[in-house]
Amino acid sequence: MTFDDNKLTAARLWVISAGRSGTRLPDGPRNQPYLARALYALIPTPSDDVLRITVDEGWHLYVNPEWLAAASVPDVGRELVHLVWHLLNRHADRARGCGVEPMSAQRWRRAADEAIGEFTDSAGLRPRHIRLVRNDPPVTVEARFTMLTDERPPVESAPDDQSGKGSGLDECGSGADGIVRCHETPRTLDLPQVSRVDGELIRRDVATEFLRTRYGYGIGRSAVVERWAKEIVEPVVPWQQVLGAAVRRAVTVTAAGGDYTYRRPSRRTATVPNVVLPSRQRVIPEFAVVIDTSGSVDERMLGRALAEFDSIVSTLRISERGLLAVSADTVAFTPTRVSRAADIALLGGGGTDMTVGIAAVLEQRPRPQIVIVFTDGYTPWPNQPLAGAILVAVIIGSRRESLPATPDWIIRVECVDEMT
Ligand SMILES: [Zn+2]
Repeated sequence: MTFDDNKLTAARLWVISAGRSGTRLPDGPRNQPYLARALYALIPTPSDDVLRITVDEGWHLYVNPEWLAAASVPDVGRELVHLVWHLLNRHADRARGCGVEPMSAQRWRRAADEAIGEFTDSAGLRPRHIRLVRNDPPVTVEARFTMLTDERPPVESAPDDQSGKGSGLDECGSGADGIVRCHETPRTLDLPQVSRVDGELIRRDVATEFLRTRYGYGIGRSAVVERWAKEIVEPVVPWQQVLGAAVRRAVTVTAAGGDYTYRRPSRRTATVPNVVLPSRQRVIPEFAVVIDTSGSVDERMLGRALAEFDSIVSTLRISERGLLAVSADTVAFTPTRVSRAADIALLGGGGTDMTVGIAAVLEQRPRPQIVIVFTDGYTPWPNQPLAGAILVAVIIGSRRESLPATPDWIIRVECVDEMT
């Protein structure tokens, strides 16, 4: 059985090419060239086992020839884009990660289709049979999957199932839910397919191309696609990891100031003759914590940041000595010693000036070597690096783009409640 390959080619071109400039006809070309690499990677195969068109994880495209003959070029284009987004979003892998099985596959596909709706709707690329359910802020497929409830699979009721082919499992294929269909090409066979590695390269190319050319599109600049592309090209490390790395880096830099001591090695370790090996003395620097208590700081995120910080310092074994801590808005309250940052009394609540809090802890003896400031960042900073102390600024906010800048010499940690 063969099919009209020209129509698939026309549909790909319809998606990627620009129409006459300045016009946007309802069914005119969609001007989404960044999808070209993915669209041309699909490997079409005619199949009577599907109702319309489906994909598997090897990027095989199963096309019902009768459906293809009857469908319009824009309709085919929309289906192709929908399926490609299942692959670009690794929906099959993620379904397995959620333990999706045949019973819950329909719910997963609904969640995935809704999520793809947000990718494709602004460019007029959502197939007509896919519902658009917007969530603001956008939520992951996994979250949608949890929120939806299982429905009984429509065994006889759905009009599409009249042919008897609709088992409820063939709407988008295993590329959408990870559940392999009987008619699909086994990945183990030595047949043309897009490997996992190639799939990753395609994903990266599409993301890079989108970001490179995003301002050139006339149609439907999508914030959802932009977020997706940025996460692939510039993956965001969770702030908890960044905070841990910043604290450890500050400790290492402080400790590196000539703190390797040379002692006579013990007999057990003297395995290299005539060489005195350095043995590292563990040096715990003096920590101070300054907390911004001005009204503009998100208390919930501040609580999370302090708890995370406490768990980091607990691994440094400084609990006997404790932390020097002060809360500050435009006045610094008296620095106190606490065993956990989360125990600090949050006083104040007015405007913001962290320089007074920093000055207050630097007057204490022993003088802190590492000063960690938890703030929303809307504060003046000292004009120059602190003498003999490292300053770490933990900037707490809701959106990364809107966090205020900090001077270059400050170690900066952005603590943002992000969707992962
Ligand atoms: Zn789908």
